[in-house]
Amino acid sequence: GKRIAVLTSGGDSAGMSGAVRAVVRQTLASGGVAYAVYEGYQGLVDGGSMIKQMRWEDVRGWLSEGGTLIGTARCKAFMERAGRLTAANNMVEKGIDALIICGGDGSLTGADKFRSEWPGLMEELVSSGKRTENEVRHHKHLNIVGLVGSIDNDLSGTDATIGCYSSLERICQSIDYIDATAFSHQRAFVIEVMGRHCGWLALMAGVSCGADFVFCPENPPSENWEEEMCGIIKKHREMGKRKTIVVVAEGAHDRQLNHISPNMVKDLLSNKVGLDTRVTTLGHVQRGGPPCAYDRMLATLQGVEAVKAVLESRPETPSPVICIVENKIVRKPLVDAIAKTKEVAANIAKKDFAAAMKGRDAE
Ligand code: ATP
Repeated sequence: GKRIAVLTSGGDSAGMSGAVRAVVRQTLASGGVAYAVYEGYQGLVDGGSMIKQMRWEDVRGWLSEGGTLIGTARCKAFMERAGRLTAANNMVEKGIDALIICGGDGSLTGADKFRSEWPGLMEELVSSGKRTENEVRHHKHLNIVGLVGSIDNDLSGTDATIGCYSSLERICQSIDYIDATAFSHQRAFVIEVMGRHCGWLALMAGVSCGADFVFCPENPPSENWEEEMCGIIKKHREMGKRKTIVVVAEGAHDRQLNHISPNMVKDLLSNKVGLDTRVTTLGHVQRGGPPCAYDRMLATLQGVEAVKAVLESRPETPSPVICIVENKIVRKPLVDAIAKTKEVAANIAKKDFAAAMKGRDAE
């Protein structure tokens, strides 16, 4: 049977363990041999016991676990060709030539690069005497399939990434807790949420919690945002509101790309509006913990689809990434999805916010 390995890479997200479970079990159900690579690409470079064969019962109970039980890491060695050569050697040793990666756009970029280099890496393993011609004969092509695991919901081409709804859920619960005390004391809270380049969490938390104002990177506020924000919040207070919630994404900035920090917002609310204001940085609580039902479903359906994509792949098929579009699980060319994602960041960098927003809409 086909030998298929799965790894999780980049920042952790809720549902990654469920994705591993789905890949392992679908591989076994298709008559294949399943492997889990521990600690992301580092495990691929280190090889040996870091690439572990998985049995059905090894992933029992993983669907409801938060984060990733096979670990994740940022791996410098894999950024270099030499590291990828070592990784390829470790894979050939175990007879693996199919890899399913659950991670963010960086991890998927690395995966695609690995695939395009693969034939050259095989030649080098033979010419350097590390492997025999016979050993690499059945591994002429590397099969790569991407699963998007990220709390940020930052990949173009998919409606939701594995983990984003769990994070959103946790943020909303946290804001509900803060709401109670804010109301009691008539206070204002500035809440910083994760999202360096993507404001999805901030925007959706704002919508879901009825925030008074939201700052997100793709859609910076108007030039005179200070007066605008203070005006809106004063109006809400005049209408009888006892609490104020402002959500600030980590990567929030103005139209000149000057960072907007929670403390800047706090000072405005204290000094210009006269509110007793506190800052709360939600931090790692918002990485999610146990996955919500949606993320369990997404991880399972997409993990199964990833194995099917491996089994149906031809050498000429571009590497797919598994997406969800209008509630359907679909495969898309991985390189396209990454290129579109990078385009949004490039548009923000050149202050073309209309184009950045359009890129997000197309998701
Ligand atoms: P997140 O969205 O959570 O940051 P990510 O997958 O984008 O996740 P990165 O830190 O960018 O996270 O990438 C994770 C790992 O993937 C890197 O440490 C590196 O090992 C590998 N990687 C990323 N980009 C490349 C690349 N261009 N070439 C080879 N490997 C890469």
